[in-house]
Amino acid sequence: MTVTEQIRSLETLAKVDADLKRLEDQLSAERATLDTLTASRRKLDVQLTSERMSLATTEKKRGELVGEVRSTTQQIEHSRDKLGRARNERESNAAQRELEELRKLLRDHEDELTKVTGESEVARQRILATETQHLEVSEELAAKGGTIQKGVTVLERDVSKKREERTAMAKQLPAQLFRRYEIIRIKKGSAVAQTTDGTCRACNMALPPQLFHRLRREPVIELCPSCQRLIYFLAPSAAREVES
Ligand SMILES: [Zn+2]
Repeated sequence: MTVTEQIRSLETLAKVDADLKRLEDQLSAERATLDTLTASRRKLDVQLTSERMSLATTEKKRGELVGEVRSTTQQIEHSRDKLGRARNERESNAAQRELEELRKLLRDHEDELTKVTGESEVARQRILATETQHLEVSEELAAKGGTIQKGVTVLERDVSKKREERTAMAKQLPAQLFRRYEIIRIKKGSAVAQTTDGTCRACNMALPPQLFHRLRREPVIELCPSCQRLIYFLAPSAAREVES
């Protein structure tokens, strides 16, 4: 393999890697959208369970208070009968005191019942709002999920095709050159740079004149001293082609 051929292969490899990176970015963006929707539905599931449990606790308390109110009301009737049957002032006073205490107790229970009924209503409203949100997310997931999944499948196929292409190209290059290419690509995102006029097209730094001279004289692959990418000379006509 001549150096010119190596340069052409590196160029193609760099292009495939750029495509691959774009595809992989797209793929992870699509997956992220799907993951976000799924995660927000899961969060709403958990929230609904907890809100329903909290409502059940409040309802249980409310049931107990209804029972308390009923039994205190019965006790009051009982106490009123006792007052009616009082045979002397002492019994009458005692029944009166008992009646007052029971009435106060009833008021306390009724106040508590009003409070808990209010809490229960708030909890119901909250559940209703969460259920609405849950429905919205589920519908969005149903609508988008299929499309996204299809897109992901297509992208995954493109990515694996590009990877195969890449493996084949990597085998053509001298092993040492490919290893250097990989080390630089992993570190910098892209590994190949060109120069047409003495500046590196990747980092825009001026190359030492001797290096530029060497690159221009014959096909050779060197390292840019500034960005450490593999660099070679690109004729002005070819550069115009790349840019157009
Ligand atoms: Zn450079």
